[in-house]
Amino acid sequence: MIQIKKGLATQQNHELAKIVPSPIRELDAEFSKIEGLIKLTLGEPDFDVPQHIKEAVKQAVDVNDSHYAVTSGHFSLRETVVHYLMDHFGTPAYDPDTEVLITVGASEALFSLLNGVFNRGDKIIVPTPTFPMYEALVRAGGFELVPLNTAPDFKLTPVKIQSVLMEHPDAKGILFNYPSNPTGVGYIPSEVQLLAEFLRETDLLVMSDEIYAELSYDVEHVSFAALIPAQTVLISGVSKSHAMTGYRVGYLVGPAAIVKQVRKQHQLTVATVPGPMMAAAEQALRHGESDVQIMRNIYRERRDLVVSALQSAGFEVSTPQGAFYVFAKVPTILGVDARSFVKRLAYEARVGLAPGEIFGAGGEGYVRLSYAASFADLTEALNRIREWMVKYQVAVM
Ligand code: PMP
Repeated sequence: MIQIKKGLATQQNHELAKIVPSPIRELDAEFSKIEGLIKLTLGEPDFDVPQHIKEAVKQAVDVNDSHYAVTSGHFSLRETVVHYLMDHFGTPAYDPDTEVLITVGASEALFSLLNGVFNRGDKIIVPTPTFPMYEALVRAGGFELVPLNTAPDFKLTPVKIQSVLMEHPDAKGILFNYPSNPTGVGYIPSEVQLLAEFLRETDLLVMSDEIYAELSYDVEHVSFAALIPAQTVLISGVSKSHAMTGYRVGYLVGPAAIVKQVRKQHQLTVATVPGPMMAAAEQALRHGESDVQIMRNIYRERRDLVVSALQSAGFEVSTPQGAFYVFAKVPTILGVDARSFVKRLAYEARVGLAPGEIFGAGGEGYVRLSYAASFADLTEALNRIREWMVKYQVAVM
């Protein structure tokens, strides 16, 4: 191992130094060492990329799509994104030249957005429980995180935003995702409408991460970009909808003045996105509708299986409307906190869940189960949870 020069040992970015490695990934790494454990920790689709999308990559390689693409990404993909969003979510006709940016997954879209638009100390409201990357990104960028606890129903409402704005009237933006990781909460159209009407009266930049929009099971997904485009940046991608997490293609759309700044940050960070992967995303968005439908139906069945099994095992669970997570309240009768419950379940029953507290305030006492796993694994995991609960309850009584 190389010993770093003494004078360099403390050379580091102070904001980044404060960021701990993603707790969910750490937990996942710990659980990976437990033999026979069924991991339901990460939000990673278990489906393979559909064959026609793989063919699009091969074809792009064959025709030497090997050069730097333009910074914003392939024009044809930007056009495809515009039409896809219009057809599916009734968004405005974004200009592919100035209002669309293709990014390295939604992750890079989020990074480039925050760092391209905000200044050190700017306040960003993040409703919790939330996707943990938001908090890390906000802090690493030197912005001020303003958490908004949405417990007990985990729904964002105008009243909740109003209460945080009373304390932080100078907040500059709000960053959230729906259907939600980690809670699965979705919004019926009238709820989105009310939120949009409220937000329209503010100068908040609405950073709406709708990466799970296609995985809405019971409600029609309504996008903020369709309602308040003048102040919305919509972030999405093909990672979840088309099971393409490793291809790393995402996008954002929004007003040109914002996208222009984000594009500069994107250029400095990644230059552009690999061509063959953009070809894959274009194929997915143009011809992948039936793949999405098939996967959505399977996820819905898994959701129903998980919800009913957890409910009968004594968990308090409300049916998630989208994404592929169940956020369940650990039965108080067990008398254990969620973190100990998760650890014991991992070591004693060999099932890996994520403790709710790692998703921020409001998540205490809950566990998140990702049902992006096979029916066989889910059935076995649910059996193990049930058996463990019975044994544990007998032992403590
Ligand atoms: N946003 C949310 C809410 C997510 O759950 C994830 C992935 N877990 C991402 C963004 C990142 O997506 P990508 O793989 O496209 O970077």
